[in-house]
Amino acid sequence: MLPDVDVLGFRFGIHYGDLWGHRGMTHSLIFAAVVGFLMSFRFALRTEERRAMMLLLFVVTASHGALDALTNGGLGVAFFSPFNRERYFLPWTPVEVSPIGAGRFFSGRGLEVILSEMIWLWGPLIVVGAILHWLTGRKKDSGWSSLRDSVR
Ligand SMILES: [Zn+2]
Repeated sequence: MLPDVDVLGFRFGIHYGDLWGHRGMTHSLIFAAVVGFLMSFRFALRTEERRAMMLLLFVVTASHGALDALTNGGLGVAFFSPFNRERYFLPWTPVEVSPIGAGRFFSGRGLEVILSEMIWLWGPLIVVGAILHWLTGRKKDSGWSSLRDSVR
């Protein structure tokens, strides 16, 4: 959820299409890398575990922008900000875009968005997560298993 902190910028006069606007800098790969690097120090891990944690946090943070790029509205995602501020969507955009703001979200439109996300995001991600959990559980000596166990 961290990348969507950019919606606070609307209150301070930052426009949607600005560098720090919605789906801008905080949705970029550079931002995901910085978050992954800095947050990996939050965990007292050995060096090799910290690298895996950095990668994991990078992928998790970057996935937010990738999932936003699957939506059918807004300006797209500035994946390559600040070097290239162009906004991108993925070639396939099946997910209904969420309205900005809690007031608009808790409406009939919000329910439509939730159903769309359950079909196109949550359902498939739960299946992938279950498969990955099953695969990493089978290899007790893998780096991912020890990383998973150390953050529990
Ligand atoms: Zn977002």
